[in-house]
Amino acid sequence: MQKKALVVGLGIAGMSAAIGLRRAGWTPVIVERAPERRTGGYFIFMFHEGLQAVADLGVADHLHTRNPDWRPGGNSWTVDRRGRRKPALGLLDAPSGLAAVLRGDIEAALWQGITGDGIGDAVEVRFATTPVEITEGAGGVQVLLEDAGTGKRYREDFDLVVGADGMRSSVRQMVFGPNEDYMANWKSMICAFQMKEQVPSYEASDSIIVSRPKRAMWVFGLSDHAPCAWLTFRTEDIPDRFAGPSIEQVRAAFSGMEDEPVVRHVLASLEEAPEHVFDSIHQVKMPRWSTGRVVLVGDAAWCMNTYSAMGSSSSLRGGAALGVALAEHPDDLAAALAAYETGLRPYITKQQRSARVKQQRFVPSSRPAQVLGSVVLELIRKVVHRRMTAEYTASSALSGAAR
Ligand SMILES: Cc1cc2nc3c(=O)[nH]c(=O)nc-3n(C[C@H](O)[C@H](O)[C@H](O)COP(=O)(O)OP(=O)(O)OC[C@H]3O[C@@H](n4cnc5c(N)ncnc54)[C@H](O)[C@@H]3O)c2cc1C
Repeated sequence: MQKKALVVGLGIAGMSAAIGLRRAGWTPVIVERAPERRTGGYFIFMFHEGLQAVADLGVADHLHTRNPDWRPGGNSWTVDRRGRRKPALGLLDAPSGLAAVLRGDIEAALWQGITGDGIGDAVEVRFATTPVEITEGAGGVQVLLEDAGTGKRYREDFDLVVGADGMRSSVRQMVFGPNEDYMANWKSMICAFQMKEQVPSYEASDSIIVSRPKRAMWVFGLSDHAPCAWLTFRTEDIPDRFAGPSIEQVRAAFSGMEDEPVVRHVLASLEEAPEHVFDSIHQVKMPRWSTGRVVLVGDAAWCMNTYSAMGSSSSLRGGAALGVALAEHPDDLAAALAAYETGLRPYITKQQRSARVKQQRFVPSSRPAQVLGSVVLELIRKVVHRRMTAEYTASSALSGAAR
């Protein structure tokens, strides 16, 4: 008989794990707290590990990417206090293998894998459902589930529970312990949303960086979609930042900068945006990602945070890796979970460490850090742009010759 797994969370990690498990011959059932599948989301920068995992999970053909065409001189700009712009090193300024997407693009591709679409049988998904209690017995794990719509609670047995319910995972809290034991406070906030239109005088696909000590805003241009805004600031007092309306908190964080045209436009866009993310930034660090028949994946296990720009790639890779480990150890769950962790941990640890360095790039901690960062980035930009301009010229010549 096929083994049955409960996957908690219909995000990138949960869907990747469910597809991975199904490929390993398991029967996954996904429960999701929200009443329906979310769409949209913020800008996501995908590395080749994430794209490889999308291919491994068999959904690469469904992934819509939105990389703007690169042009000589680049399409990214830093803007100073007086509104003067200078070419900058953009996130996508690299030879190849990187993708610009919305979070919803990744989830839509995975959803094709979940609903079948010729890839396999559909995975059962129960919306508005959460686990309330998880009890492990000799031969399985019993979960008390609650249907938010009806208020009904029922018990169900599984061979494995996969916690893929994000940074503040309820599975982690129920089985491993309180958030304080695992969530490191990075004393920073994030606000992200889709803009209705680009900042005036910039091309639709341009990216714009306004970076000051302790606060920064990035506008990410896309090829076929209005840009996305990503704002971050450092703060000592996280609880206070949740005290009032989030838009007021963001405005207060950027006070004194409202006269700068880019800042003014982005803050006005935030007021108009139908939805935005506003949250504190943490990193999740756990000595073990599994115990008995419960395993964690994605932000629940190792949230690297937004500065790493590796969260979605690692969630995809984690879900795929869990499936591979279960397929390789069909009769030994403990060995499968150990193999999953041993194989993945060095990569996760490396990415978690590099997030601190990346944080300085996104939001410098001080004026000297900002100056040093901009000198280093300018040197890198010159080298990278020279190489990309040469590639661009060569490919233009080739396509000209072909015509
Ligand atoms: C602003 C921002 C920008 C980012 N940029 C990048 C980037 O450029 N590149 C990158 O790779 N990553 C980026 N990330 C990180 C990336 O989005 C996450 O790492 C990734 O989405 C994590 O996926 P997840 O499935 O683990 O968690 P989540 O996306 O948090 O999904 C968890 C799911 O579980 C559900 N859930 C929660 N609790 C319960 C419960 N009790 N019962 C049932 N369901 C539950 C939630 O509703 C949700 O659907 C960014 C993140 C943010 C916030």
